Amino acid sequence: MMKNIFDSHAHYDDEAFNSDRDELLCSLSSNGVSYIITCGCDLESSIKSKELAEQYEFIYFAAGFHPENLEGSSLSDLEKIKELAKSEKCVAIGEIGLDYHWMASPKETQKEFFKEQIKLAQELSLPVIVHDREAHADTYEILGDMKPNGVLHCFSGSANDAKRLVEQGMYIGFNGIVTFKNARKSIEAAKAIPLDRILLETDCPYCAPVPHRGKRNDSSYIPFIAERLSQELNIPAQKILDITKENAMRLFLNDRN
Ligand SMILES: [Zn+2]
Repeated sequence: MMKNIFDSHAHYDDEAFNSDRDELLCSLSSNGVSYIITCGCDLESSIKSKELAEQYEFIYFAAGFHPENLEGSSLSDLEKIKELAKSEKCVAIGEIGLDYHWMASPKETQKEFFKEQIKLAQELSLPVIVHDREAHADTYEILGDMKPNGVLHCFSGSANDAKRLVEQGMYIGFNGIVTFKNARKSIEAAKAIPLDRILLETDCPYCAPVPHRGKRNDSSYIPFIAERLSQELNIPAQKILDITKENAMRLFLNDRN
């Protein structure tokens, strides 16, 4: 059995876990899971994420507004995110970023929230967890200008983009999508950067890796991602888990544990 699994991006507040959340979370440590960061997407889910982090020692949380969840919110709501972020178990501002696929809010609104939340993270000396869907140019421009610490999660850019982001100090997050047949681009990006800049994540309940593709995802499936990267990087899967756990601890937990 694999150990040292650090799931750097999950959504355990999601209703997909309502029927068995406690049972599942209690089973994870016996499946090799050491730590989880559960990410807020708006005020309500950030509050729920905080509650989960307070209930389970191995869970930490991120607070923030996802670009798909800005409707009905104003920048003044970031004060409430700031309060949540002062909680002892908050380790990042996230997930934040730009989503030009769903385009739930105009680009200008998305950019404004993204930048203000990066500023908030910098003010609080926290890393950011960044979402970028079909918005590479604007996302990279903002990250290049503001240079926050953090991770670009569910990375979908090119190998060169990954290299440039790493040079700026960012980490790159990979999830179950790297196990899909058409994942060549993500694999090339993973091969182009040093292993000490890679984080593993589920984005659960979404993005379950092969052979569970399409089903509900959870942190115990992270080894499938490590196995896939292992084949490409010629590094044992357990070593990939060990190193990516150290990476996530360096970025999010400092000297806490
Ligand atoms: Zn997410």
